[in-house]
Amino acid sequence: MWPGTEDTEMTTEDLQAALLDWYENNKRDLPWRHTADPYRILVSEVMLQQTQVSRVIPKYRAFLDEFPAAEDLADAPLSDVLKLWSGLGYNRRAKYLKQAAEQVVNEYGGRFPRDPQTLQELPGVGPYTANAVAAFAFNTGGPVFDTNVRRVMYRFHGKASDSELETFHTSIFPPEKSRTWNNAIMELGSEVCVDGTPRCSNCPWRSECTAWKTQDFDTPEVQTQSTFKGSWRFYRAKLLRLLMEHDALPEDRIAEELALPDKYDLDELIAELVDEQMVTESDGKYRLPE
Ligand code: SF4
Repeated sequence: MWPGTEDTEMTTEDLQAALLDWYENNKRDLPWRHTADPYRILVSEVMLQQTQVSRVIPKYRAFLDEFPAAEDLADAPLSDVLKLWSGLGYNRRAKYLKQAAEQVVNEYGGRFPRDPQTLQELPGVGPYTANAVAAFAFNTGGPVFDTNVRRVMYRFHGKASDSELETFHTSIFPPEKSRTWNNAIMELGSEVCVDGTPRCSNCPWRSECTAWKTQDFDTPEVQTQSTFKGSWRFYRAKLLRLLMEHDALPEDRIAEELALPDKYDLDELIAELVDEQMVTESDGKYRLPE
């Protein structure tokens, strides 16, 4: 039904202007919105992948104080990077981020590629992150489609499959304003068109919104994350924390401190981390890599 059909009054240009205007007047002051440095954008995007904004902000600042540029991160020992990452979870992200910085320094002479396709060649950078870095750093990305944007489109356009909603989003996306638009639509989803009861009275699109017209504020299904405490991931993180506190530990001390439940195998846990080069072994002791 969108846009420009009989029962709508706003053109695509009207929708764009309404959202961008709303964003200009309502955007949160987030530290990564003050930069177009692709390295800093990448750090923020990787941190935000599985962690809430409020927890990311102090970590982001501390991380960039220590590693202000890709060169600094590339040169740092992984153990230092993991220490600063501690508390954010999903430690593999820290390792990939360091490897991405190394690749930018070694293969691209310290200059980040500008297009999403090449950005995806960096370790740990998938299509979503590549597009976000291209949009926020270079204003060259396409329309972002994360959980928040998906929810806005589902309600505004009316229930449809993800591919239909992505197509719809693309049809109203202004490519020349990639940076601002993507920030704006993500902000709308995170602050106004929230899960549960949306704050429609603050929404610039209310008069044209299908959910508002039908008062059906259903949301698309979201995959829920499995419980962290007691999970394999929980013990991986616990082991890495142990090695941050102690320089090196033999396996029997690890077994004692970790108190791994019977359903998990300590050798397998250690082998996985060694295999991923998150942990190294020498003289019968395990430590974080230098
Ligand atoms: S009017 Fe309400 S439901 Fe519709 S897009 Fe805006 S916040 Fe979401």
